[in-house]
Amino acid sequence: MNSFELVVPETAEEAVAALQALAPGEAAPIAGGTDLLIDVDEGRVAPRRVISLRRLPWKTLDWNAGALTVGSTLPLRSLEEDPQVRVSYPGLYQAVRAVGSVALRHRATLGGNLVRSAPASDLVPVLLSLDAEVDLVGPSGDRRVPVDRFVQASRRTDLRPGELVRSVYLPEARPSAFLWQRVRPSNDISQVAVAVAFSPAQRRWKVAVGGVTPRPTLLPEASDVLGSGRPTSSEVRRASEIAASRAAFVTDRRASEEYRRHLVATLLERAVGSAVNGGRFPA
Ligand SMILES: Cc1cc2nc3c(=O)[nH]c(=O)nc-3n(C[C@H](O)[C@H](O)[C@H](O)COP(=O)(O)OP(=O)(O)OC[C@H]3O[C@@H](n4cnc5c(N)ncnc54)[C@H](O)[C@@H]3O)c2cc1C
Repeated sequence: MNSFELVVPETAEEAVAALQALAPGEAAPIAGGTDLLIDVDEGRVAPRRVISLRRLPWKTLDWNAGALTVGSTLPLRSLEEDPQVRVSYPGLYQAVRAVGSVALRHRATLGGNLVRSAPASDLVPVLLSLDAEVDLVGPSGDRRVPVDRFVQASRRTDLRPGELVRSVYLPEARPSAFLWQRVRPSNDISQVAVAVAFSPAQRRWKVAVGGVTPRPTLLPEASDVLGSGRPTSSEVRRASEIAASRAAFVTDRRASEEYRRHLVATLLERAVGSAVNGGRFPA
């Protein structure tokens, strides 16, 4: 592994300054390190300076009028263990539990998952279905970006030089579900992941998929077919057909395009059923 200088700032301002002082690519923030250290080890990145985020006050979970703000460096295991997350955001709870193993989730974070922006990320689809927004801190101040704009491609985000992800904002609790299929149940990447959520405020569904297209993506046509409340079985079937017929599904060593289309249809039908029957679905 390449050697690097490790910097451990106490404040966000110090962390941004440490990041900004070097050219992009020469300095890298580290949260749990479950992606970054593999990238360093395999030579995909070679930072001269690694900036630890562990002392920043970002391992937080804040509830405010039904909205939830998750600190970017909160270990996924803490998110999973919060009883209110399980009740208010069942899709998020299920997606977090899908990530790696318990040991991995003691280190891995939401911020790191978003910035890695892997095509098969389990967390990005669920964040898309929940209309999540990313709170950023950087040399020009703070800004908030919808996840759909933040995640652009594998390893490419809207993050500007010197910026860090401070937290992720979830505007409202939603009946939701997340289902996945893998070759092996743990420590493997999803062949397909499907997230669905119903917004009580907007009275509309959001459907997102991961693992099938070059980046996790919302499927607005499938979402619209589900209507403005409890969908009928023919609406669910139609939404599944639309989702499965969407262009640009990938074939790779994990699954063929055809198998992925089949999985998307099946998982979508089950996920909507789970969101509707999981309790708290509005009348
Ligand atoms: C064995 C194994 C199994 C895995 N299984 C899954 C799985 O099932 N599903 C899944 O989705 N992922 C999986 N992953 C991927 C990984 O664990 C997640 O992406 C994790 O959430 C990354 O978080 P981290 O804190 O470890 O990120 P890090 O490794 O610390 O960072 C990842 C990237 O984000 C940057 N970064 C981190 N935090 C910030 C921040 N606050 N602001 C700006 N940039 C930041 C880093 O510089 C780096 O580029 C797996 C990884 C391993 C090794």
